[in-house]
Amino acid sequence: MNKGHAVEILSVGTELLLGGTTNTDARDISEMLTTIGLNVFHHTVVGDNPARLRQAMEIAMGRADIIITTGGLGPTCDDLTKNVIAEALGLELVFVPEEEARLRGYFEQRRREMTPNNLQQCYLPAGCVRLVNDWGTAPGCVVERDGLTVIMLPGPPKECVNMMRHRVLPYLQSKGDGVIVSHNYKIFGMGESEMEFVLRDMMNESVNPTIAPYAKACECLVRITAKADSAEEAEALIAPAAEIVREKLGDVVYGVDLEGLDECVLRLLEQRGMTLSAAESCTGGLIAKRITDHPGASAVFLGGVVSYTNPVKEKILGVSAETIARCTVVSEPVAKEMCEHVRELTGSDLAVSVTGLAGPDGDGVHPVGTVCLGLATPEGTVTDTLNIPGRDRENVRQYASQHAFDLVRRYLTGLPVKTRTII
Ligand code: ATP
Repeated sequence: MNKGHAVEILSVGTELLLGGTTNTDARDISEMLTTIGLNVFHHTVVGDNPARLRQAMEIAMGRADIIITTGGLGPTCDDLTKNVIAEALGLELVFVPEEEARLRGYFEQRRREMTPNNLQQCYLPAGCVRLVNDWGTAPGCVVERDGLTVIMLPGPPKECVNMMRHRVLPYLQSKGDGVIVSHNYKIFGMGESEMEFVLRDMMNESVNPTIAPYAKACECLVRITAKADSAEEAEALIAPAAEIVREKLGDVVYGVDLEGLDECVLRLLEQRGMTLSAAESCTGGLIAKRITDHPGASAVFLGGVVSYTNPVKEKILGVSAETIARCTVVSEPVAKEMCEHVRELTGSDLAVSVTGLAGPDGDGVHPVGTVCLGLATPEGTVTDTLNIPGRDRENVRQYASQHAFDLVRRYLTGLPVKTRTII
């Protein structure tokens, strides 16, 4: 695909206009298209209304050369995307027997009766490329006509995202006159503006590969994208740029193409054959949840204690009441005892702890956003205090878990652990 294409995402569904459903499909499609270097210029949302859908389609045809629709492909009478789009393109809908066979198999496998309205899903625009839906019932399709590509995808997010990843991206890439490769350099400990400032000259000068910074929830990333005749050539274009990015940003770059700091820590523990446990107060189990989101976590994460109240900190974790009374519960000495005791309890090599104030209420001593972390290791324990100001409860918890994972990452990669970076 050449990079000059203009893409429009046309989402169909009254529920999207009423606010009950967030348009995650458009977000996810955009995100995936940027990884193959395609530019999305418009997101349009229209209700289940044939006249307004037709109008939206005509506007899109006037300004985009790739249109991706979502929703309205199902069996109910408000599912009218195919009919309206086919009409706008001057195409008939034709019955596809392979779809009927697939659909009957789908229902038989689930021991459910197939009502006749389901057959509506077996009609597709004449001459289209069928996109088989292995995640649901409604097939998608691609229509190519006079330089315009129209791709129709089902609305349910799981179906839409899988169809995009496994059907549409390979289709678009196979049409292209080259290969686009991109890698995400994940960053924690530097804000987007500072990152942009550090990389600005490089970003402005770079054409192939391109270098673009993005702010994500509680972290950032730099995406380096190259286009070449082969994947090897694209990788060769990316490598020197990646080296410079790493050099300029330093040890805040925690990994490449990783899902998050949780995955980074998991991989590092695997590589070193070490285990981790956690004692969590204000994060309420978020650290345990995040690491166990990844398959294979049981080999390195032994478990944890959500010690949300003082009695649990004392009775289960063995934190001394005297330390709590003397230092307050949000303190480095308490964090130290929490991680040391959970390490003993679980027998893990390493243990992290978090005790802090997520808000909105404070404790009359510390400001909301004060979080103490501990990391117990075979060589001893380190503790740190963060001040995460001006954030809501969820944000403080997310940042606290990010910092806890970063502490483990820093220890495992031999970096200084006490960064005092407040972001
Ligand atoms: P189905 O086969 O389920 O009928 P469909 O293609 O007809 O699929 P819709 O009926 O429009 O899709 O939507 C099905 C579900 O997907 C609904 O729960 C809807 O809220 C959700 N959905 C639709 N469009 C989007 C979107 N753009 N982003 C997120 N969710 C969506």
